Amino acid sequence: MLIDRYNRVHNYLRISLTDNCNFRCFYCMPEEDYAFTPQAALMQADEIERLAKIFVGLGVNKIRLTGGEPLVRKDAGAIISALSKLPVKLSLTTNGVRLHDFIDVFKESGINSINISLDTLQAEKFQMITRRDSFHRVMDNIGLMLDIGMHVKINVVVMAGLNDNELLDFVAWTKEVPVHVRFIEFMPFAGNRWTGNKVFTWQQMLERISDRYSFLPLKAGVHETAKAYIVPGHKGTFSVISTMSAPFCSSCNRIRLTADGKLKNCLFAQDETDVLSALRTGADLERLIKNNIAAKAMELGGQFNKNFETLKADEVFNRSMIAIGG
Ligand code: SAM
Ligand code: SF4
Repeated sequence: MLIDRYNRVHNYLRISLTDNCNFRCFYCMPEEDYAFTPQAALMQADEIERLAKIFVGLGVNKIRLTGGEPLVRKDAGAIISALSKLPVKLSLTTNGVRLHDFIDVFKESGINSINISLDTLQAEKFQMITRRDSFHRVMDNIGLMLDIGMHVKINVVVMAGLNDNELLDFVAWTKEVPVHVRFIEFMPFAGNRWTGNKVFTWQQMLERISDRYSFLPLKAGVHETAKAYIVPGHKGTFSVISTMSAPFCSSCNRIRLTADGKLKNCLFAQDETDVLSALRTGADLERLIKNNIAAKAMELGGQFNKNFETLKADEVFNRSMIAIGG
């Protein structure tokens, strides 16, 4: 088992398949030109499978594929198929734009739950955020996923002054459509123009939603990062994810593998362990992995705390989100 010094058991691995992406969301990528990692430096499909098996041997039973955009990788389908044969709950987080090409892969791999990112219900604002004109394609693909019976979670990064005025529209959407909308507090990463006053906290979100709706809390799992609610009579639900104002580090069970094969024990961890090189040279991987997890900081990578108001984004030493894998 992968246990740290605070007795947290880590059984949930998020694997980034690539730091490449067909979108350019400003809150995820640095504004200046970002150099994507060359193909040869990425974990190859067989290496991802071998590493995943080692993690499964250490107690991982849940894997999420992410990126960058996981579905831009040419061998994404083959990787999904290979990992689906492991004894894990497999899912992925995607911007949704290529989902229509993966229906057969999902069916064959038994994937029944997917997270799709969508920060606005307005086509123009979508283009402003992602710098791509793909709003209608993503909306169509959300419909397609619902049609094939997928459990669809929608990730919305809420940024004060940008899309906080759409919270009620998103909740209205859940009336007839069985989507599970997750409102996420805006987090600081290298070059993403984060400032404390752009964080719209979970309390502010609930307050805003209560202007129009009465809602009931839903029961949460032990490691659940989202506080979920339902408006009685709605087919979908909504939840709030309070990473900044009320971090959930004490029950964290997540670890991350970047696309270039570095293990991060926290989204905000500064230290990384190069497990890909270790795999390639035949080093003692289990020991390296266990040491990495044992050294996990108590909260937020040891870099800041929930009093984020005075935090400066460039004081948080980290990669950009696109290079970590969200
Ligand atoms: N390309 C895929 C997508 O967009 O869903 C997967 C990778 S993306 C990095 C994973 C998740 O991280 C997305 O839901 C995205 O909205 C979220 N994310 C990226 N930057 C963020 C930030 N600064 N604060 C909060 N969430 C962020
Ligand atoms: Fe790409 Fe996802 Fe980052 Fe947007 S949030 S730039 S879609 S990786």
